[in-house]
Order: sequence, then structure tokens, then C-alpha cells
Amino acid sequence: MGDRDATFRPVPTSPPADALVSRGAPPAAAAPVPAAGKRVAVLGGGASGLSAAHELAERGYAVTVHE
Ligand SMILES: Cc1cc2nc3c(=O)[nH]c(=O)nc-3n(C[C@H](O)[C@H](O)[C@H](O)COP(=O)(O)OP(=O)(O)OC[C@H]3O[C@@H](n4cnc5c(N)ncnc54)[C@H](O)[C@@H]3O)c2cc1C
Repeated sequence: MGDRDATFRPVPTSPPADALVSRGAPPAAAAPVPAAGKRVAVLGGGASGLSAAHELAERGYAVTVHE
């Protein structure tokens, strides 16, 4: 048992790894964007359509994806 205690000592981590672990909390949610006052229809829910919808929503457009 004495040998086991000696073997399983904490392993020191590097400063970048320490920072990652200690940061812990997820990033804060983005602040609400003011509404652009315009609606946009995106045709197609593929990679391009969803990317466009996301970008437009981030700019305050009311986006509807039609698939
Ligand atoms: C077999 C295969 C494997 C692939 N593997 C990879 C991979 O591993 N990694 C990678 O990065 N890329 C891969 N690709 C490529 C990738 O799938 C495409 O580059 C990507 O899906 C293109 O996105 P898109 O939004 O332009 O088109 P799509 O993904 O085709 O989206 C178009 C959408 O529009 C919809 N649509 C079509 N007409 C209308 C209409 N009149 N009204 C409403 N909706 C409509 C369709 O249903 C579809 O959902 C692969 C492609 C294939 C075919």
C-alpha cells in the first residue's frame, strides 16, 4: 500500500492545461441582437441554408428555413 501511495501522486500539468481546467464555466451567452425588422426565407436546410440562416439570425433578421 505504501508503494501504491508513492506511485499515484498527482501529475503536474502545464500552465495552459491548468488554465483550461480552471476556466470551467462555459462562455457567456451572446447579448441579444436588436431586431433588423425584416423577415428572410431560406430555401433548403442543408449546410449552406443553415449557415446563411444562422448568420442572418445573428444580424437580427427573423429567419424561416423552408425544407
Ligand atoms: C455521398 C456524399 C458524401 C459527402 N461527404 C461529405 C463529407 O464527409 N464532408 C463534407 O464536408 N462534405 C461532404 N459532402 C458534401 C456535402 O454534403 C455538400 O457539400 C453539402 O451538403 C452542400 O450543402 P448545400 O447546403 O449547398 O446543399 P445540400 O446539403 O444539398 O442542401 C440543400 C437542401 O435544400 C433542400 N431543397 C432542395 N430543393 C428545395 C426546394 N425547392 N425547396 C426547399 N428545399 C429544397 C434539399 O432537400 C436539401 O436539404 C458529401 C456529399 C455527398 C453526396
